[in-house]
Amino acid sequence: MSKYTRVYGTHDILPKEAERWRGVEGVIHDFMELHGYGEIRTPIFENTELFSRGIGSETDIVSKEMYTWEDTNKQSLTLKPELTAPVVRAFVEHHIGRQTPISRLYYLDALFRRDRPQKGRQRQFHQFGLEAFGSAHPEQDAEVISMAYKIFDTFGIEELNLQVNSIGSSEVRPAYLKILREALQPHITEFCDTCQTRLDRNALRLFDCKSKTCQKLLDAHAPVIIDHITEEDRVHFDQVLEYLTLLNIPFTQNNKMVRGLDYYSRTTFEITSSAIGAQDALCGGGRYDGLVEQIGGKPTPAVGFAAGLERLLLAMGEAEDEPESLTDIYFLILGDKSRGQALITADQLRREKGLRVIVETMRRSMKAQMREANRQKAQYTIIMGDDEFDREVAIVKDMAQGEQHEIPLDALTDQFQVGSECGCCENDKHPEED
Ligand code: AMP
Repeated sequence: MSKYTRVYGTHDILPKEAERWRGVEGVIHDFMELHGYGEIRTPIFENTELFSRGIGSETDIVSKEMYTWEDTNKQSLTLKPELTAPVVRAFVEHHIGRQTPISRLYYLDALFRRDRPQKGRQRQFHQFGLEAFGSAHPEQDAEVISMAYKIFDTFGIEELNLQVNSIGSSEVRPAYLKILREALQPHITEFCDTCQTRLDRNALRLFDCKSKTCQKLLDAHAPVIIDHITEEDRVHFDQVLEYLTLLNIPFTQNNKMVRGLDYYSRTTFEITSSAIGAQDALCGGGRYDGLVEQIGGKPTPAVGFAAGLERLLLAMGEAEDEPESLTDIYFLILGDKSRGQALITADQLRREKGLRVIVETMRRSMKAQMREANRQKAQYTIIMGDDEFDREVAIVKDMAQGEQHEIPLDALTDQFQVGSECGCCENDKHPEED
């Protein structure tokens, strides 16, 4: 057992897995850009207050899960536990809203929550997501929800379940919360301890409770917020649903889904898949028309979503195919004199031909080097010993065919095309035949 191990709840992504991540990340970048979203990258830590004010001090994230420390100047800093607040902070700080009335931003980033680790839940994890600032109209909600759905569909994720709800505009909340508290107060002792403390401070949060008993009590006694939203909220929500239907996005309405964060207004949504086990949430999002103003900007309507990258990879299942080779050429060195030349030639092949070249650095025997080239699944090997160096040639071996040819050093780079086709083998004409 090594003296140092990774911190509980974190993961190393080793090369084979990293290759898979890069493929998935590439699809996400292309997908976002196809829809006119531009990438934003924010710092890994922010002032703690951004999250306590932005997300809400009563939320699980802020009250229990943040990695917070005091810097030497007494400033309280936090590793970002979610990405909407930092993106909104950047949107306000860079006056992005002044430059254009509608801004579409997306991100793919690491975040940190001191949650209880289990399958699909880490303490450092990654999210991709987007935020659309500027439009209060239902077609914007539909664009965002349909993108969230389509991206999972693009990756072939099965058993997708999209649930949508409207929690109305923020003005309806105080009156509804009063009704909710009054309805639940007579039953409060039957709820779990957390729910009991939340009823006064933040009653909406009770709907997020995982306890089956609490959920049953809510089913029996809690009025749902959608019955208390304004006529305008209702029209907005109906139009969102109409557009989703037009776009053939299957959804169900879940009137108990309020989402865990304070900043939502009107539309909320979640996508789950039973294909990934207990932690089945793939993505969550909604409209947050008040957050930009709360963080110091001009009132700006906004809607977005965040999706877990690890959960997406989990839902995609294990990669079945053997990963492709990462090596076009393995450079075998069989003498001291040829070492420098091998480095130069390898660099030339990378620079001029874009080939992936590995040079032997272990000074192993010919047999061991050949074994390494096979292990790397190299398509070609270039072999250079002192004799070849003196004669200014190298031996090129096609590993699949087993053929090998001696090539003058000054003609070597030209023998390879991008895609690692060796000219001499392909043309059936070898320089030594000239
Ligand atoms: P949230 O920001 O809590 O709405 O989460 C959005 C998405 O991020 C969820 O639907 C999950 O896919 C993913 N997610 C949230 N927390 C974690 C975690 N601790 N580990 C891995 N993925 C997570």
